[in-house]
Amino acid sequence: MLRFELPHAAQRILDLLEASGFEAYVVGGCVRDALFGRSPNDWDITTSAKPHEIQTVMQAEGLACIDTGIAHGTVTVLIDHEPFEVTTYRSDGDYTDGRHPDTVVFLDRVDGDLARRDFTMNAMAYNPRSGLLDPFGGQADLHAGVLRAVGDARTRFEEDALRIVRGMRFAARFGLEIEAQTSRAIHELRHLLDRVSVERIWVELSGLLCGAHAVSVLREYADVVFQIIPQLEPEFEFDQHNNFHKFDVWEHTLHALEAAPAGMDATVRFALLLHDIGKPHCLTFDEKGRGHAYGHEKVGEPIAKDVCRKFKLSRAERETVAYLVRWHMFSIPDTKKSMRRFLLKHGPERAQQLFAIRRCDKAGLGWEQPPDSPLNIAFAKAEILMDEQLNAQPVFGVRDLAVGGCDLMELGVPQGPQVGQVLNELLQAVVDGDVENDRDALIASAKKLL
Ligand code: ATP
Ligand code: MG
Repeated sequence: MLRFELPHAAQRILDLLEASGFEAYVVGGCVRDALFGRSPNDWDITTSAKPHEIQTVMQAEGLACIDTGIAHGTVTVLIDHEPFEVTTYRSDGDYTDGRHPDTVVFLDRVDGDLARRDFTMNAMAYNPRSGLLDPFGGQADLHAGVLRAVGDARTRFEEDALRIVRGMRFAARFGLEIEAQTSRAIHELRHLLDRVSVERIWVELSGLLCGAHAVSVLREYADVVFQIIPQLEPEFEFDQHNNFHKFDVWEHTLHALEAAPAGMDATVRFALLLHDIGKPHCLTFDEKGRGHAYGHEKVGEPIAKDVCRKFKLSRAERETVAYLVRWHMFSIPDTKKSMRRFLLKHGPERAQQLFAIRRCDKAGLGWEQPPDSPLNIAFAKAEILMDEQLNAQPVFGVRDLAVGGCDLMELGVPQGPQVGQVLNELLQAVVDGDVENDRDALIASAKKLL
């Protein structure tokens, strides 16, 4: 019999429920991950006990319970501050609002609970005493690398269309082939995503973008991506009419994403997905008939903002995405001075994000570039300059100067906007390397300015 170890706390919850005469299993993602040889994020538990029975059993042992999801049968049990979701066997009613099941019905048998789950690999339960419950062949699918809906794919996506994007996310994370009928249903029913809440879609979409196999999924299911983000559709097969670019805009974007380093976060990846969203609106031709998209970053910024607003991203996330789209066409600094100015303009964090985006953008050109190509040399040089400047702890704003407003007022600068003006002039002089960021030097320089 297949066996794997559960964390002590999860095993304790199963033991307590069983000792009170209930059935209990770990279920869903954790079973899948354990069989995959990955360590699960969290261990969910499914049980025949009803919510109040779960609470009674746990509280008798002095364990704290949080009953936030109780209408859906979920009690969160805290063991050493770690939360475990314990959910009564249940089936879901319709998702008429695309958000929550209208009703949930508690069940007595685990099979029904497994049948409500989305994909075969997520529909397995396990208990060290009784072993693996796998009524839909999830383990075989897992080993074959196949993602398959539980039951009839169309019916399951009609119940809850979010499963379409969840399926893409799992395929992107684990590098799975989506089984033919499931795949067909994803394409055919993508319009149902219009009624799913944007917050739920964003959770899955951002997970998808971070998957190691995201690009092949985005390519194969581009129609789904365009259903969720129609503003990207004009990129599809949009010819750039310029030999500098090997690919159309959409293919270029996918190649750029392919180059994203593993540690790049979801927000920056999203900016990369949207970075050329303005391009199809900006094509012009020069006298030789070559295409250009001058200003596409400016045109793209408000479009990217709209997309972020649609997904209700936080203000900070929206600003990051819009900023990176707006400034991704920067000219690569090639001197100490221009690098200092670049860092001053964007700040160290944004400057590094912009470089990360730009490196991917370059990879997305699609041409094999030897290490000594002018572009690669420019990047290598700029990266050294950036590291030098960041390590030298240069000045990024007037607050980093060795003098402040009070010093200037003592020199006779009248309180008011003039103080700021002089400080900015001093800042510029420091950034340009004309003055040291040293109190005496700055005061001398301020005196000259005055
Ligand atoms: P992750 O490791 O990313 O959390 P997961 O499989 O645990 O993956 P969750 O969103 O945490 O995914 O959901 C837990 C389980 O609940 C899933 O494995 C699946 O069995 C079930 N589930 C979640 N969302 C749905 C849904 N929309 N439709 C059907 N079943 C779902
Ligand atoms: Mg989970």
